[in-house]
Amino acid sequence: MSKKGIAILGATGSIGTQALDVIRAFPNKFEAIVLTCGSNAELLVKQAIEFKPRAVVVTDSNQFNYVQDTLKGQDIAVLYGESGLVEVVQYEAVDVVLNAIVGSAGLKPTVKAIQSKKDIALANKETLVVAGELIMDLVQEYGVRMLPVDSEHSAIFQCLTGEDDNPIEKIYVTASGGPFRGKKREDLVGVTKAEALKHPNWSMGAKITIDSASLMNKGLEVIESKWLFNLSIDQVDVIVHPQSIVHSLVQFQDGSIKAQMGVPDMKLPIQYALTYPARFKNSFDRFNFMDYPMLSFEKPDMDTFKNLALAYESLRAGGNRSCILNAANEVVVDAFLKDKVGFLEMSDIIEQTLNKVDFIAAPTLEDYLETDRVARVISKEIIKD
Ligand code: NDP
Ligand code: MG
Repeated sequence: MSKKGIAILGATGSIGTQALDVIRAFPNKFEAIVLTCGSNAELLVKQAIEFKPRAVVVTDSNQFNYVQDTLKGQDIAVLYGESGLVEVVQYEAVDVVLNAIVGSAGLKPTVKAIQSKKDIALANKETLVVAGELIMDLVQEYGVRMLPVDSEHSAIFQCLTGEDDNPIEKIYVTASGGPFRGKKREDLVGVTKAEALKHPNWSMGAKITIDSASLMNKGLEVIESKWLFNLSIDQVDVIVHPQSIVHSLVQFQDGSIKAQMGVPDMKLPIQYALTYPARFKNSFDRFNFMDYPMLSFEKPDMDTFKNLALAYESLRAGGNRSCILNAANEVVVDAFLKDKVGFLEMSDIIEQTLNKVDFIAAPTLEDYLETDRVARVISKEIIKD
């Protein structure tokens, strides 16, 4: 059998490097055809020398020449920017595009990959938050697979295997609660980015770690679930589960609930997205019940963590609202990481941005891109004031 060709967009990130661990573990099954980075050119070059992809893409203009010069003579094409990403996802040798870029920058490459009939392994949840309806319509139209990498969505996807004719009654998306679980608004006034970056269970990129602390990550995941599994908003519930062992649950119409469990390790959902529907034997850590004598569950606190409420509201309003939410969130998280706004201010700025950007009921791709642009400008202006 020929190897499955994988394009990893965002190969230098937390998900990207773990995806390469999976490919390294199964050299006869997978081949890295494309690797891309933003600015981490040194790591990209190292990866390129090890995996010998056909092409790499660098999206930071300051790093492009370095990568081009360093890889001279290696028979690896070096491309630049968004146009490079859009070009490489079309390569014939690519079977699956693993999108592990952070933020709405992942949207256009996903669209082009679907239009080129590539299966998508999606870590870049922002793609579905910004344009879920449009993306899932394209998935239908082009007959490709949308394979979730996000651990909660992989869990739901795994619970649904073999249940094609059985409608979902509801799903429970689990949340760790992040480092500030149990805190009230007054406790969060002066929290620092170092505190927010300390996730109790997962080691991830900076943006998603802040999103986890603010519960925006769970809001984004509610939106992602709605589109991935074609659910109504009322069918998507969030439950806080601090141990992060139950990765999410599906309740069927007879009341039966299926859960997918395991130690928190993104390599498993990454591997499943690449091997689906098969399961390959691996040597990842196994779950031991004796290490977790108690698994607990509690209600999320949407008054303290307003972002989750804002995400539900945006989804309910429809149109370009979730796109605005996402763009404003990307801006405030970046500002928080640069010590320009406080932790609680983030939701306030997102809310103000939601109130200021024009509503579009049935956006096209161009409308989403324009909404993303305008929402960023407006939230940056609010930060400056
Ligand atoms: P990281 O920040 O660790 O990695 C992001 C990757 O995208 C890096 O390769 C980075 O390049 C690249 N990148 C950043 N900005 C751009 C851009 N504008 N254009 C093109 N490439 C860019 O993020 P994570 O791996 O943590 O997350 C990736 C995605 O997966 C996110 O959408 C996140 O929500 C999702 N996800 C992550 C999980 C995790 O455990 N990490 C779990 C579930 C979902 P460079 O390194 O050069 O900056
Ligand atoms: Mg997740």
